[in-house]
This record gives sequence, C-alpha cells and structure tokens, in this order.
Amino acid sequence: MSEHKNEQNQQICILGGGFGGLYTALRLSQLPWREIPKPEITLVDQNDRFVFLPLLYELLTGELQTWEIAPPYAEILANTGIRFQQAPVRGINIHTKKVHLGNEHELSYDRLVLALGGETPLDMVPGVAAHALPFRTIQHVYELEARLRILEESDRDNLRVAIIGGGYSGVELACKLAERLGDRGRIRLVELGENILRNSPEFNREAAKKALAAKKVWLDLETGVEKITADSIELNYKGQIDTIPVDLVLWTVGTQVAAVVKSLPLPHNGRGQLQTSKTLQVIDHPEIYALGDLADCQDATGQQIPPTAQAAFQQADYAGWNIWADLTDRPILPFRYQNLGEMMTLGTDNATLTGLGVTLEGNLAHVVRRLAYLSRMPTLEHQLKVGVSWMTKPILDLLS
Ligand SMILES: Cc1cc2nc3c(=O)[nH]c(=O)nc-3n(C[C@H](O)[C@H](O)[C@H](O)COP(=O)(O)OP(=O)(O)OC[C@H]3O[C@@H](n4cnc5c(N)ncnc54)[C@H](O)[C@@H]3O)c2cc1C
Repeated sequence: MSEHKNEQNQQICILGGGFGGLYTALRLSQLPWREIPKPEITLVDQNDRFVFLPLLYELLTGELQTWEIAPPYAEILANTGIRFQQAPVRGINIHTKKVHLGNEHELSYDRLVLALGGETPLDMVPGVAAHALPFRTIQHVYELEARLRILEESDRDNLRVAIIGGGYSGVELACKLAERLGDRGRIRLVELGENILRNSPEFNREAAKKALAAKKVWLDLETGVEKITADSIELNYKGQIDTIPVDLVLWTVGTQVAAVVKSLPLPHNGRGQLQTSKTLQVIDHPEIYALGDLADCQDATGQQIPPTAQAAFQQADYAGWNIWADLTDRPILPFRYQNLGEMMTLGTDNATLTGLGVTLEGNLAHVVRRLAYLSRMPTLEHQLKVGVSWMTKPILDLLS
C-alpha cells in the first residue's frame, strides 16, 4: 500500500446528493475500512433533501407526500459518518484539489465525485424562461402547485395546459394533470417528432398513447414551438403557424450540464458532459469520478449509458467500490450496466413497464412500479417508514 494513504484520513468529496452522489456516499460508508483509517466522506448538495425524481409526479395528484419521496439528508445520513454540507458548488480547482462552495467554505479532496445531475434548458425558444415552468425539482412542483391552485379556484370552465415535449416527463405529467383537472382540463402535449416516447419500447409507447387518449389529452405531433407568451403559445406544424391561447405552459424538453461543470478544464463531449473511462474516472484524471446525467460513459461492453436514475444508481455502486478499491490498493472494476427496462406512470392507478422479458400495464404495473421504487429508496429505515405509510393509507382513507 502506498505510504501517503496511511498517514492521514483521505478526503472524499461528493458533489451532488442525487442518485449518483447520495448512493455513492452510502456505499462508501458501508465498505470495510480496515487497512487504512476510514476516509472523511463529505456530501454536498444545494438542497436539504434528496429527491426520488421518478416519483415527483405523484406530489401533484396528492398520491404521495414530500417526506416520502424527498427525505432530508440529515435523516438519511444519520449514523453513517458521512458529513453533509448544504451549499451550492460555485467552483472546483482541479489543480489545488479544492471545491469552493456558495457558503464561502472550501473543501479539499483526495478523491472527488462529480454527480451534479442536469438542468432543463430554458433558452431554446423565446419566452420559455419568463412564461413556462420546468419540472425537475421540488421547487418546480411547488411553483406548479401554486399556479394550478389559482386556476382551479378561478371560475373558468376550461383550464388550458400545454406540455411541451413528448418524452417521459411530458407524457407522465400529462396523465397526472389530466386526472387532477378532470373535466375542466384541456391538455395538449406538443412534440416535435413524429411520435411520442421515441426511445421507449413499443409496448410502453402504445400503453401511453392509450392512456393519453382515454384522458382526452390532445397530441400535437411534428409540431415545433416558436414562441411562448404569458397567455399563448405559437405552434409551427409543417410551416403553418398557429397561436393557441393557454393558461399554463410546462417545458420538459432537453437536459443540459450545469455551468460549473461545463467550465472545468476536463474532457467534455459536445453536450458538455464529462468524458469518463469504463471505470467511471474522468479521462486523464483518475482521482475524479463522474457519474449520472453529467457523465458521458460507455460501460465494459461498450454500451452508451443513458441519463437515467437506474443508470446513476448502478454507477454509484461501482464508484463507491472503485474509490474504496483504489484507496486500499485493490484492482478497480469496469462498470457493467444492466438495463432492467423502463417503467412509466400513466395516471393514479395506471402504469406501464417493459423489462427483463416482461411487459405489464394497468393497475398491476402501477403496484409493481411502486414496489420497485420502494426497494430503491435510500436506507432500510426510510423504506420501512414509506412502506408502512403506503400499506396503511387505504385503511386511513376509509376511516376518514
Ligand atoms: C421528473 C423526472 C422524472 C424522472 N423519472 C425517471 C424514471 O422514471 N426512471 C429513471 O430511470 N430516470 C428518471 N428520471 C431521470 C433521473 O432522475 C436522472 O437521470 C437521475 O436523477 C440522474 O442522477 P444524478 O445523480 O446525475 O442527478 P440528480 O439525481 O438530479 O442529482 C443531482 C443533485 O445535485 C444537486 N446539485 C445540482 N447542482 C448543484 C450545485 N451547483 N451545487 C450543489 N448541488 C447541486 C441537486 O440538488 C441534486 O440533488 C427522471 C427525471 C425527472 C426530472
């Protein structure tokens, strides 16, 4: 073992407490640190709570509560020995190995994990930043909730919502909002391509189309958005421009890497993602690991890793292991991605899933999806609390 690793506690700094970062920290804290003193593990996030993003939609329909899908880091990290710093990451000096935080603190690192995720670009079309809402964080849910309440409490007969982007988020949001707004809802889903969910298996796409049709969601395919104003959207269908009045616009198109990552003097791809080796280390910087939405990575078999929670969760297991192996002079492992398939919510009691040779839709898929996500939630204690809440909810609802 190299001498310096023995001398003092190594500093492992993990930036971003989402699927990549939080699970890397938890993995590291569980590994046996016998040969060297246990490293100091610091997790940094700008928010005080982890967000289980695939269940974010459920807050809009009241199916789930914030504490269930967004437990505070203080709770998750209790008794793990992991330190938590709530602050935005302002800059990273890869030469001095220091991270600068928005609260004026500075952290030194021996190993750095970059897992700051992605952002929704709000500059693709004029008016998006000023008039449309993105949907990626708890704050976005609160903003949307406030806008929906005003509309619901108004005396309007029709509540007109345009959702831009027919990918997973757009489709799932459309289904939930259609149920929430009921007969008053006039929801249109605008997609530039010829079809919604272009990366999904046929089974899921068809199930989604069926659900959207049943909920009377209007589909605008092959339609671009030219401009968004406070009360309208300008649509372009094959050169024909139409201005449609709307009460609310949701923007779900695109993912970009944060400026603090883009500006690093490290190898990036054309979209600003950091290029990593199969072992999840940034090219030419073995002390820096990058994972999740900000990383451009191919696994041991050459598969390009998709920007999903499933992939970040699996990468976290390898990142944690590899940092431990590296610090304790063991061989590190190339990442092997296992595509377990895809699940989507299509309303309050409907979902679709395709994976591991199984296809399922309807209520059973809804239950399987919930259970699969429960098993992925951080810490056994949180899983138990949420599991008990889900089991007792139908009884409490009956009694109330
Ligand atoms: C609404 C929604 C639904 C989704 N549904 C699914 C799904 O069903 N299945 C699936 O596989 N994937 C889904 N995804 C994608 C999935 O959530 C992401 O691919 C995954 O979260 C990526 O993990 P990550 O660790 O890279 O980033 P994240 O999980 O986004 O975590 C990044 C963390 O970094 C923090 N952060 C960012 N910038 C800073 C900064 N400057 N300073 C400090 N902290 C910062 C953030 O607060 C966040 O906690 C969904 C995404 C969204 C938005």
